[in-house]
Amino acid sequence: MRSKIVAGNWKMNNNLEQTEALLSELSAKLPDTDAEVMVAPTYVNLAGAVASLQGSKIEVIAQNMHFAENGAYTGEISGDMLLNIGVDTCIIGHSERRAYFGETDEILAKKVASALDQGIRVMFCFGEELEDRKSDNHFKVVERQLKNALFSLDASVWSKIILAYEPVWAIGTGETASPEQAQEMHAFIRNTIAEAYNSSIADKVSILYGGSVKPGNAKEIFSKPDVDGGLIGGASLVADDFVDIIKAI
Ligand code: PEP
Repeated sequence: MRSKIVAGNWKMNNNLEQTEALLSELSAKLPDTDAEVMVAPTYVNLAGAVASLQGSKIEVIAQNMHFAENGAYTGEISGDMLLNIGVDTCIIGHSERRAYFGETDEILAKKVASALDQGIRVMFCFGEELEDRKSDNHFKVVERQLKNALFSLDASVWSKIILAYEPVWAIGTGETASPEQAQEMHAFIRNTIAEAYNSSIADKVSILYGGSVKPGNAKEIFSKPDVDGGLIGGASLVADDFVDIIKAI
């Protein structure tokens, strides 16, 4: 059985007070669910979030990390620092990191390998741009992103990987992949992993969909057999919306 997961990526939003307020509203309203529920606050609020969520079902995850364990990398954060404050899952490869911070497949491969090496669970994000889809290259692009960042990894680490397929054209745009488009791509991803590794690994990996998931469309997207949950941006900043999305799973 694959884990169902709903994760909120708060990006560069919410100062300390806002983080505390949103966490306490979420905790109070959290529905009973078998799904894993995660939030990714900004770095400066991670340790505080871990402390306020002691004993809660909500897990705190990070938005990014460096591939080095320590050293002269001004402004960066290491996996070791995350583990040290009780954060053991990290988003890697978000399209905003790729677009605005020059994170290439090569850099991401190093980050993923380093995170896994250090015992950090990776939520790996990938997805095609609008031009890729328009030119019918979306499957090729996704396959390349997976291959370059993940397919050199040993089969044994795949239990520590969560995938988040996020078509770039659907992130923060209000435009969502249709449930059929999501299912088609998720099935392709699972099949690609089965070919690169085996069907047991492919069947066990959770593949989340991300891109303008809202309370109004979550249920239909999550109902698809290869969609195991969602990575939620904008709607995760509003407690009632995030809670409704969790209910939809
Ligand atoms: C994201 O940034 O991962 C995301 C899915 O954002 P949104 O839900 O706002 O499209």
